[in-house]
Amino acid sequence: MSDKESIKQQLKVVFLGTGTSQGVPIIGGTYSADYLANPKNHRTRPSIYIETSEVSIIVDTTPEMRIQVLREGIANVDAVLITHAHADHIMGMDDCRRFCHQSEKPLPIYAGAESMKSIQRVFEYAFNTVHIPKGYFVPDPRIVDGPFHVGDLKITPAPLPHGRMTSNGYIFSLDQKPLLAYLTDCKEVPENIIHQIQDVPVAVLDALRFKPHPTHMCYDEALTTARRIRAGQTWLTHLTHDYDHDLHQAVAYYAQQ
Ligand SMILES: [Zn+2]
Repeated sequence: MSDKESIKQQLKVVFLGTGTSQGVPIIGGTYSADYLANPKNHRTRPSIYIETSEVSIIVDTTPEMRIQVLREGIANVDAVLITHAHADHIMGMDDCRRFCHQSEKPLPIYAGAESMKSIQRVFEYAFNTVHIPKGYFVPDPRIVDGPFHVGDLKITPAPLPHGRMTSNGYIFSLDQKPLLAYLTDCKEVPENIIHQIQDVPVAVLDALRFKPHPTHMCYDEALTTARRIRAGQTWLTHLTHDYDHDLHQAVAYYAQQ
């Protein structure tokens, strides 16, 4: 079985959003009619949904999480993983109340220690209240400090430099085989992580825009990283309006080489 077939059969991955922190288009931006007419140039904030035969999870709860899960027909998840606590990755978390209501139990929220501290401050009412009324968001905080399992899915954190903070990338494995590396919001992918995921079937990389940025990889940096990882397929995410989807299809294709 090829790597591509293997990930298709064992792991379903849906991009819930691939836009940068402001979303695309941005408020007050000026765009051509052609640009706006293409639905692929309308990007919600970055997040993925992953499903195995046993479990389903989402990575990050963006401000558009409710719209994203409704769009994809996702009714429930077993856990939420957070990469880091910037607004574009956490501000939809309260909408997890529907998952708690349906499962009638707290929802595991996985994040690094620093990110968890920020999340607990922002959603203080949910994390620090003893008696939460039925139908409200009930988190079950789990600090990520090494590999862990959610059902049959092994998840290995990959700490990435993102300005003054650390963003957790995540490597998803089934039967000890890494199938997917989700590495968003980073200025670089450190050597030890590249080594861990060499030849992974699918890698998702931050590729913010064409001009360099102090805390994100730009397109050239993402391409260089992609060549070093040598994934079966490389997908670019956290994209600004620099990218006109159809115009830059060649760009995406090239990134996969
Ligand atoms: Zn972000």
